[in-house]
Amino acid sequence: MDTVEQVEKGQLSIHTDNIFPIIKKFLYSDHEIFLRELVSNAVDATQKLKKLADFGEFNGELGELKVTVKLDETAKTITISDRGIGMTADEIKKYINQIAFSGAAEFVEKYKEKEDTRGNIIGNFGLGFYSAFMVAKEVEIVSKSHREGAEGVRWTCDGSTEFSIEAAEKADRGTDIILHIAEDSEEFLGKYRLTEILEKYGKFLPVEIEFDEKIINNPNPIWTKLPADLKDEDYLAFYKELHPFSEDPLFWIHLNVDYPFNLTGVLYFPKLKNDFSAKKEKIQLYSRQVFITDEIKDVVPDFLTLLHGVIDSPDIPLNVSRSYLQADGNVKKISGYITRKVADKLAEIFRNNREDFEKKFDDIGLFVKYGMISDEKFGEKAKEFCLVKNTAGQHFTFEEYTNKVKDNQTDKNETTIWLYASDPQKQDAYVQSAQKRGYDVLVLDTVIDPHFINGVEQKLEKTSLKRVDADPLDKLIEKEISLESVLSKEDEEKVKNLFEQTLSGGSKLTISVEAMPTDELPVVITMPEFFRRMSDMAATSGQKSMFGDMPQMLNVAINANHAVTQKILNASQDEQTQLVQHAYNLALLSQGMLSGSALTTFVQQAVARL
Ligand code: ADP
Repeated sequence: MDTVEQVEKGQLSIHTDNIFPIIKKFLYSDHEIFLRELVSNAVDATQKLKKLADFGEFNGELGELKVTVKLDETAKTITISDRGIGMTADEIKKYINQIAFSGAAEFVEKYKEKEDTRGNIIGNFGLGFYSAFMVAKEVEIVSKSHREGAEGVRWTCDGSTEFSIEAAEKADRGTDIILHIAEDSEEFLGKYRLTEILEKYGKFLPVEIEFDEKIINNPNPIWTKLPADLKDEDYLAFYKELHPFSEDPLFWIHLNVDYPFNLTGVLYFPKLKNDFSAKKEKIQLYSRQVFITDEIKDVVPDFLTLLHGVIDSPDIPLNVSRSYLQADGNVKKISGYITRKVADKLAEIFRNNREDFEKKFDDIGLFVKYGMISDEKFGEKAKEFCLVKNTAGQHFTFEEYTNKVKDNQTDKNETTIWLYASDPQKQDAYVQSAQKRGYDVLVLDTVIDPHFINGVEQKLEKTSLKRVDADPLDKLIEKEISLESVLSKEDEEKVKNLFEQTLSGGSKLTISVEAMPTDELPVVITMPEFFRRMSDMAATSGQKSMFGDMPQMLNVAINANHAVTQKILNASQDEQTQLVQHAYNLALLSQGMLSGSALTTFVQQAVARL
C-alpha cells in the first residue's frame, strides 16, 4: 500500500528543458483535442475496470460508470471525472510523470526540426494527457485507485518540469482531472463550445458521457454490432444520425474484419446524381469509437470519398504525418479491402437484382465510373457491372453493348464504334439521323463522361467512341441499307468545288459529298472526334477554348440526294453562291454554331426573303 504522507515535490525526468511552449506552438490550431484526449483516457479507465470485473479481479460495486464533464465558469475550471480504475500515487508517478511526459518529450524531439510537417501532424497526433497543458495553466489530478483500501492522491503541475504530489480526500473510486484554464484559452469556458467539441469527438464513445446534465453520446453505434442483429431501419436511422439533412442513402455495406487488421464500419451510398464535389469528406474515421477525422483522403482512394459513413480502426496510425500514412502497410491493406468490399457489393446487387441496380445507376453511375477510371483493381471488377444507357433509356453492360453494336457490323473483326451524345438536346439532329440509319446512340452526359470515354477505350480492346456529330454517319460502318448517290461523279465534283470556292476559310473545312437520305439537311457539319476531345479537354482544364466562337476544323458533308443540291447545280452563278452560303449557315445553326455577327446577318437575310 502506498500512501503519501506529505507533499512531495519532484522533478520530471525528461531530457528536453521546456517542452510546453513547443507543444503549444505545434498544436496551435487544434487545441480543442485536449478534451478528446482526456475524455478518452477517462473512458479507457472505465473500460479497464469493467474488464477487471469480467475477469473477477475486481469484486466491488461497479455502480454507475458514466464519465462526467463539468464546467465552472467562475472558478475557470473544466473537470473530467470518471469512476474507472483510478491511480495510486505510484501509478501517477509512473504513468503520468514518466510515460505521459516522456511521450510528449519524444514528440517534440521528433518534430521540433520539422517546421514544415506541422500542418500534417496537427489533429492527428494524440498527445494524450499532456495535451491538457495546451489550454490549462495548471492541471490537478485527484485520483483514488479501485484497489481495496486505496487512498486518495492529488497531483499538481503547471506544465513545467516540476510537479507536486500529496494525499487527498476522495470519497469515490476513480479520477478527476481538473484543468485551470489559461487566459489565452478562455474560449473553452463556454457551454456551447464544450458541447460542440464533445459532440464532435465523443458522439459514439463506448461509455456514457454527461455534460450539462445531458448524455451527449450513443455508446452503442451500429458499427459495433453484428449485421445479423440489425434491420434496414437501424441502418437508415443511423444514417440520419450522421447526416440529419440528407436524403436516404441507396444502400450500404457493413464492414467487419479482424485479420490481418482490425476494422469495422458502415459505408453508405448517397444519391450522387450529377453532383461531384459538394458531398465529399463525409466518411468519419474513428479509433475505438473516438472520432479522429473526416479527412480520409489518405486512407481510401479518392473515388471512395464520395461515400458516407463511418470507419473505425485502431490499426490506422494517427500519430504520424500524411506522407507516412500513405506508405503505411496497414493503410494500404485497409484501402484495398474497402475497395474490394465496395466492388463486391455492387456486383452482388447487379447480379441479384438487375432492375434495382439499373434504377440506382443514375445515382451511383458517377461513383462507379470514377472508380473505374481511377482505380485499377476496382476497374477490373467494375467492367462487369458498369452500365451505359442509350437514348431510349435502356441499360447495357460493356459486353452487352459491344455485342449489340457488332450485330450491325459487317466485319466482326473491325473496331467497334459506340456512338454517343453528350447533350442529346443540342445534338438532336444528329441523334435523329443516326437513328434513322439504324444506329443506336448512347447518352454520356455527366461530368465524368469525358474522362470515362477515354477509360472505356483503354479498358476494351478494339472499341472506340464517337460523338454523333463526329463524322458523317455512313462513313462509320458499312450498313446493309447503305445509300447510293443520285449524282454523277462529275456533278459531285462540281458541287464540291462550288462549296470550296464559296465558303471562306476553306482550308479549315474538309468538304465532301455523301449519299444521305433525302429528308435530311442538304449540308451536315461534323467535327472530328479527336479534335473535339482536345478542345473539350482544354475547356475542362480551365484554359479558354482555343476555338473562340467558331471551331476551326470542320467536316462539311453535302447531301448528294437532297433536292437543294440539285437546285444548286441547276442555278445561275449568283444564285449558287447564295444557296451554298444559306445551306451552310443552316447547318451551322442546327449545330448551335452560328453566333455573333454571322447569326445577325443570317437572320437579316432570311427576313429579307419574306
Ligand atoms: P495513453 O492514454 O496514450 O497511454 P496518456 O498520456 O493519455 O497516454 O496517459 C498516460 C497513462 O496515464 C495512461 O496510459 C493511463 O495509464 C494513465 N491515465 C491517464 N488518465 C487516466 C484516468 N483518467 N484514469 C486512470 N488512469 C489514467
